Formats: sequence, structure tokens, C-alpha cells
Amino acid sequence: MSHPQTPGNPEAITPERVREARERIRGLVCCTPLKPSFTLSRRLGREVRLKLETMQATGAFKLRGAANAVLSLPEEARRRGVVTMSSGNHGRALAYVGGKTGVPVVVYLSEQVPAVKVDGIRSLGAEVVVAGPDQDEAGAAALARAERDGLTFVSAFDHPDVIAGQGTVALEILEQWPEVDTLVVPVSGGGLIGGIAVAARALRPEIRFVGVSQALGPAVHDSLKAGRIVPVEETPSLADALQGAMPPDNRYSFALCQRYLDEVVLVDEEAIARAMAYAFRRERLVVEGGAATTLAALLDPAVAHRLGANVAAVITGDNVDLGRLLEIVAQHPEP
Ligand SMILES: *Cc1c(COP(=O)(O)O)cnc(C)c1O
Repeated sequence: MSHPQTPGNPEAITPERVREARERIRGLVCCTPLKPSFTLSRRLGREVRLKLETMQATGAFKLRGAANAVLSLPEEARRRGVVTMSSGNHGRALAYVGGKTGVPVVVYLSEQVPAVKVDGIRSLGAEVVVAGPDQDEAGAAALARAERDGLTFVSAFDHPDVIAGQGTVALEILEQWPEVDTLVVPVSGGGLIGGIAVAARALRPEIRFVGVSQALGPAVHDSLKAGRIVPVEETPSLADALQGAMPPDNRYSFALCQRYLDEVVLVDEEAIARAMAYAFRRERLVVEGGAATTLAALLDPAVAHRLGANVAAVITGDNVDLGRLLEIVAQHPEP
């Protein structure tokens, strides 16, 4: 982070910037399928389709933002390398992009990141540093490293190029299904829904955004309610990709959430577990907890009135320990 004191300008993330991102990242990122969900459509009496970001090379949408951020760097910064702090999927995406482009990558993780994600990042050739019990500490260590070694800090969600990259999900959905009227999106730091909202609103002003977070420590939800960024306790959750507090010096993503999100739906641990089992049994999909939050929201009858007739849910990632997933599936025989 070269200018941490400069206030951010969320207007910097324009629909044009999202379109440019799409061209830039084409070689590294797939256009993922938008799969009609027969069971959810029948159950909800609406057409429901699933945007399968699990199909990206690293198993999560984070590849979009990471690719756009690295490919937008000037030559000198690319040579020095990038550093980040991640709950796992962003680190893995950066490591993958680094491997493809020859840019050195350092990833700081907290001790709460599951082994499956730590191994995934290491195997791609990035330097991995496990620093501290939570993301606050790991993040501070990553920033100190950036300063010390002249590396570019690439935030997982509060960086204009990352947000613009994530927004490319919306361009694909709107092309694949022009009639879509509701987008259901998991929210952690708000980079994904921020980018999606900028791109989708410009093309379809009446589109609705339903954010979903885990009930344990939902940073954006609590901060939206308070009208300013408030601390949350980092509580272990099945939705490990969504954990972590919003840093108080957030410059872009929180402002976008304030502008575009009417509300964030919360789902509890049991609902997330049931949704993971549902995805496996009925959709034949491996879905990690953070991504299953959208399915958990759709399976909650109280959420139905927030939905239009044509609902697309972003299934954000599949990086879950398979032993754990199979246990959850066995514990939920009738999702
Ligand atoms: C990062 C992530 C999210 C949330 O993205 P934000 O931009 O932080 O809101 C959702 N699901 C998965 C699987 C993720 O890795």
C-alpha cells in the first residue's frame, strides 16, 4: 500500500474499468457456467441459476481481482513483487497469477486459515508466512513486509483493480441471462459485491443485490447498521473465507456497500452446513462454507420476499477440506 493515508475515491471504480478488466484478465480467467438449479427453482417458485466460480483454476472468483491487479502493475512493481494478507482464496489466486506471470508473491495468513488453503498456496510457489492468531495481526505483518521490501500490497477486497476484476462476474451473468433481476452474493470485505454492483447497476438500473454473510462476526453487516466501520470478533465459522474484521482505514469497498446494499442477510452455522450438504447431494457440487451462504439464504423461507422472478446466486468457491465436507454431508441426510 504505497499511500495508506490518501482517502479513497469509490468513484474510481467505474463500469468502464470493469469492462477493461475483463479484457485484461481473459487469458487467466474462465467465463464460468451459469447453471440452472432445477431443485431450487421448483422449491422457490422462481427461476434460480448458479454462477459457478468454483470452476476457476484456483477454485474461487478471487482469480479475477488478483489477475487484474497484477496485470495492471507497472513493470518495475511487477519485478519487485506483491504481498497480501488473505483468508486463503485471494492468496491462492495471487500465487497462481504470480506463477503465470513471473511476479514474486508473498502471502500472509492467520493461524485460522484451513490447511487445505495453506497447502494450495504453497504448492503454487508463493512464499507463505503464517503470522498471528487473527487477520488483524497477519495484515499488519504483511504491510510491514511491503514497506520493508518495497513490495506492492494487494488487498483482498479494498483495491480498485481487485474490485473491478471481481465486477467482471456481473458482466458475464448479464450476458448469459439478460432477464436476471436479483443477484445473491456472499459478503466479507465487500469487494465482490461492490464490483458486481457497479457493473450490474450501470447495465440494469432496477437490479437488486442481496448480500449474505455468516452470523458469527459479519463485518459489513454490523458496520452498515452502525453507519461506520465497527470492529467484529473473529469467530471461527464454516464460512472461513468470510471471516475477519473490516480494517478501519477501508477506502473503497465499504463505501460501495453503503451505496448499493440495502441489507445483508445473515445465516447461522447450521444453515451453512445444511447448504453445503444440499449443494453436494442435489447439485452435485463441492461448495465451501463461505460460498454456501448464498444457498443457505435461498433455502431460508424468510428470504424469499427479497427475491425477484429471476435469481442468480454466485457460488464463490470450492476450497473446503473434503473430509470435513463428507462429514457434514453424512450429518445432513435430508437437506
Ligand atoms: C473472498 C470470498 C468471498 C467474499 O468476497 P469479498 O470481496 O471479501 O466480499 C466470498 N466467498 C469466497 C469463497 C471468498 O473467497
